[in-house]
Amino acid sequence: MLHENLTINDLGHLCIAGADTLLLAQKHGTPLMVMDEQRIRRNFQIYKGAMAKYFGEGSFPAFASKSFSCKYIYRLAREENVGIDIVSSGELYTALEAGFNVEKSFFHGNNKTDFDIEYGIDNGVGHFVVDNMTELDSIDRIARKKGIIQPVILRLTPGIDPHTHASITTGQVDSKFGIAIETGQADDAVRYTLSKANIRLDGFHCHIGSQIFDIKPFCDAARLMIKYIAEIKEKTGYEAGILNLGGGFGVRYIPSQPELDYEEFIRLISEFINLEIEASKIKRPIIIMEPGRSIVADSCLTLYTVGGTKEIPGFKNYVSVDGGMPDNPRYALYQSDYTVCLASRMNDKNDFKCTVAGRCCESGDLLQENVDIPKPQRGEILAVLVTGAYNYSMASNYNRIPRPKVVGIRDTGDFEIIRRETFADLTKNDL
Ligand SMILES: *Cc1c(COP(=O)(O)O)cnc(C)c1O
Repeated sequence: MLHENLTINDLGHLCIAGADTLLLAQKHGTPLMVMDEQRIRRNFQIYKGAMAKYFGEGSFPAFASKSFSCKYIYRLAREENVGIDIVSSGELYTALEAGFNVEKSFFHGNNKTDFDIEYGIDNGVGHFVVDNMTELDSIDRIARKKGIIQPVILRLTPGIDPHTHASITTGQVDSKFGIAIETGQADDAVRYTLSKANIRLDGFHCHIGSQIFDIKPFCDAARLMIKYIAEIKEKTGYEAGILNLGGGFGVRYIPSQPELDYEEFIRLISEFINLEIEASKIKRPIIIMEPGRSIVADSCLTLYTVGGTKEIPGFKNYVSVDGGMPDNPRYALYQSDYTVCLASRMNDKNDFKCTVAGRCCESGDLLQENVDIPKPQRGEILAVLVTGAYNYSMASNYNRIPRPKVVGIRDTGDFEIIRRETFADLTKNDL
């Protein structure tokens, strides 16, 4: 199967972390998201171990929590002793509710409001990742009002195109994120930041995109950032203590994609970075990485109940399920690849080509096109694999569909992570 936590049992049912998905669907209802806790912990540990080993003391992963934000995941992050990346006061609130020590957090976003800045400072956020100079002015002003000196790092755009989907590319000069090195604006930003009395500049950040399988764009970005650290040191005397290289490691969603060995990936990048640092004669910065997708995606699958099946002669076949874009908008947004299988009959022949459609009144509400599965009966359970990242966190209530339940699997059995939304939840803010 795609990942080692997915297996087929004697009954021909799909299992995740050894648990029969049909029994889970029966017990909890559908749509249902099932997460393999051991897999998430394993992924945290791979990054944490490899970064400490290859980048040295002080380097750590900061989980990009926008990929899956809920109290459970911040508790796991706390237990595994990793940092977090947050992009809103809502994510910060959730982390605080989970008892996460946000000193080890990076507050991102291209438009932090004054409320966000004040809320972040009041709650002791470790670093703001500054996107632009108007934001910096606000941080400085609010920090002065509070009588503190706020640590920040600057988000720079090194001008890299990682050749991934346009809507998940972020490192090029023309981007809503960050400050360009190429245009000279980064130099101005560094000087301006250093002139602020209530700001402490701790280093730089870049994030080039997402779902990247090739090591080269990461090395290119790291090289440009290290070169920039050396250049700005020469120009201003300022030497960066932190280099945050963002996230973006690819995840295997379909069989034709590789399964990356993240430890090896980090080892190779570190070799490259170490040579660059030596050559540029700067002191070794603390390296931070911000994996999101590659921490949670492959820990999870989503189970749906099949409803209508429609065969349109001369055109194609549709299989409709009891979820769709409200719980997973990624195919509708950017035609993301997913593996779909009929969880109830994994050993049957996949001889029915179809489009898997969600239940919303929206033609674009599809989960995947051209998938091959056994022809399903109404009531059978269909699984979409590798749904842990950017599914629940992007979920909506479109068509007043309640968000699904999320359950976890660990040694002792299954447990609830997020309860299913009720109809009462849907109207709780309506006046
Ligand atoms: C989204 C994002 C990440 C995480 O990207 P993944 O592809 O999920 O690893 C990391 N850093 C920043 C700044 C981001 O915007």
